[in-house]
Amino acid sequence: MSDPKDFTHFGLDPLILSAITEMGYATPTPIQAKAIPVVMKGLDVMGAAQTGTGKTAGFALPIIQKLLPHASASMSPARHPVRALILAPTRELADQTADNVKKYVAKTPLRCAVVYGGVDMDPQTAALRSGVEILVATPGRLLDHLQQKNTSLSQVQIVVLDEADRMLDMGFLPDISRILNLLPKERQSLMFSATFSEEIKKLAANFLHDPQLIEVARRNAIADNMTQEVFKLHESEKVAALLELLSTRGPDGGRLTQVLVFVNAKIECRRLARQLQKAGINADAIHGDKTQDERMKALEGFKTDTIEVLVATDVAARGLDIVELPVVINYDVPFAAEDYIHRIGRTGRAGMSGLTIMLMTGSEERAVAAIEKLTKQKFEIRTFDVKQPTRPERSEHRDRPVRRDAFERRPERAYGPPAQPIDDFFSKPYEPGAAPAGAVPAPAAQPASAPGKEKPARVAALLSGIKR
Ligand code: AMP
Repeated sequence: MSDPKDFTHFGLDPLILSAITEMGYATPTPIQAKAIPVVMKGLDVMGAAQTGTGKTAGFALPIIQKLLPHASASMSPARHPVRALILAPTRELADQTADNVKKYVAKTPLRCAVVYGGVDMDPQTAALRSGVEILVATPGRLLDHLQQKNTSLSQVQIVVLDEADRMLDMGFLPDISRILNLLPKERQSLMFSATFSEEIKKLAANFLHDPQLIEVARRNAIADNMTQEVFKLHESEKVAALLELLSTRGPDGGRLTQVLVFVNAKIECRRLARQLQKAGINADAIHGDKTQDERMKALEGFKTDTIEVLVATDVAARGLDIVELPVVINYDVPFAAEDYIHRIGRTGRAGMSGLTIMLMTGSEERAVAAIEKLTKQKFEIRTFDVKQPTRPERSEHRDRPVRRDAFERRPERAYGPPAQPIDDFFSKPYEPGAAPAGAVPAPAAQPASAPGKEKPARVAALLSGIKR
């Protein structure tokens, strides 16, 4: 008998169910419980869900179910046209999504491939040319392949825009518009986003047809199972404090392993990883200057426990799927309050309890207040009694003015600041095409550089090309 608490009641094929069982999924996550039936019905979806909620299976399982009747064991590429396209903002997210989809289709003749930039095109070209039903891609690289006629999107039945807010932040709107224009008009469209700005609503109004709204947790909410600690100290005490935390906050007061430490600048990222290594900790740095291979290697080492501490910047960490991470440390208070939610979203996933510790200095008080406002909470800020302050390295002294390019190049800064206004969008019924001016209350946590006034017009102009 099918049980609404497990996967059997969705009407998924036994081949899919068996793959899910092998993955160890027993109970659908809330987004899966809501999204799977809606996607199975063929409806468009606008989903409010972050990475870590199980949203990939939420859209991938019903997509696979819908494509199964077309599955072919033939070797002919013509029998394996692209029927589902999943667009993702980063290589890491694309890779992880494809990894999961490949496991879900493992027992079926359906094929999945992934294409993203920064790596050799040839293996991707070979995969595309041999035929693939489910294609996961970052927008730029997909356009390169389309230009070279390595694949065609003329038979796409379902398209997914994953982490749509990130794609807009990263300036992908023109690329997305070009890609959407190449898809058949008759299709199912799904969009997932962790936050909902005016631009996202406009994109949804143009891209989705009478979408079902699916929301799992109130956005900007912090999971209940998360313990958050904030310590105030002097900049010169931070390294010593971090070392102390790493050596005392593990199980039974011992050493912590698998800790993700966030910093704001890549210069800081390198420096801190080096200082931790000098202190005998297996640490690695992951930032925007690292190649895709280096990032993957660091991530793999981290997942397999050969690297104890991964020091990361926001850009590099975006989209990383690291489950069962017990502790996340904010060595710096993030510049944008929203990044705090993304950072600590790496822990406390899937019902696990998580701990997040943030080190702040007097000059970071405003940034901390912005996080409190966005997350609707008041931190208990404690002082940290550092036993032995560590001297900063001479070559990259932290108190020296840091060159601007030392910070991660964040495309979203050029496009517009990423902080999203808190609004009651999801409390209201969906009105196609409606993105009324003034419907959104004043932003709760605006970064120093306010959004350009011309931005909405620019977005509207770009979107006009994809009206369905
Ligand atoms: P996602 O939000 O799709 O990136 O998923 C986050 C993680 O949760 C991935 O590692 C998935 O493999 C895992 N996951 C997804 N659905 C389930 C489930 N129903 N039960 C347990 N783990 C899941």
